[in-house]
Amino acid sequence: MNEHFTGSAPICVALKERKRMSDWHTQKIERNKRSLERLSKNLPAIFPPVVLARALARPFIPPTPRLAIESYWHAHPIRADRLARALAVRTGPPGGWAWRLSHSRKDGLPTTFRTPPAPYRERAYSLGPGFCCVCGQPVYRLGWHADLWNAGPNMKAAWHCACVVAWDFWNAPNSEAALLRRLQGRPCSQTGGRLWRDAEVDHRVPLFRVWRDHRNEGWPTLLNYWGLPNLQLINRDVHAVKCAIEARSRRAASSFEQPN
Ligand SMILES: [Zn+2]
Repeated sequence: MNEHFTGSAPICVALKERKRMSDWHTQKIERNKRSLERLSKNLPAIFPPVVLARALARPFIPPTPRLAIESYWHAHPIRADRLARALAVRTGPPGGWAWRLSHSRKDGLPTTFRTPPAPYRERAYSLGPGFCCVCGQPVYRLGWHADLWNAGPNMKAAWHCACVVAWDFWNAPNSEAALLRRLQGRPCSQTGGRLWRDAEVDHRVPLFRVWRDHRNEGWPTLLNYWGLPNLQLINRDVHAVKCAIEARSRRAASSFEQPN
């Protein structure tokens, strides 16, 4: 008798799980069907083919062209980083601009050297609607960076979809540690030894040194210190030692600079 009951319980659980999976699968198919209808209805005649191909291959299809573009850039932060820096090169800095920090947030200046310099986010140099506040280039339909539709700048937009992702990446590169690990391969950049699972993203040239020694290199060259060229993955213990050495050097430099 007992054997009978102990044998049927796992079968019931398995059947319930199978039904749950089947329901979930049906819901997913229904949801994708609705999303595809909505996406097709709103899709412009011209649309970036790489974005569309990715959208249609997603487990959950984005229901709007805008979401398809956002999803594409979120999946490609390194591409977004490269593009944002290339667009910024096309724009160049505004006349008279210099990288400055401020304790007040009113003027739009960054309050810390950890924030990437972005002249067009500053109130004094803002280009207004239709221009990206990160790179300074025109923003077109759906937040795209090129005018595929010959419709001129989108006057309701102030960010490229790519630049939103690049900005997030520059400010929190550790969130893309897995991707950077794949790009870097196996060895720890600092020691050449094996890279452990708890490896962390590090700026080769620390940002305080960028502010102290490189701040006159001009914009957008400065952005390279926040992008891929200045990022490496190093083991956690090595990172802690590197940070301690950098902090000591920073303290020594600031005491040296202080007046007697
Ligand atoms: Zn931009």
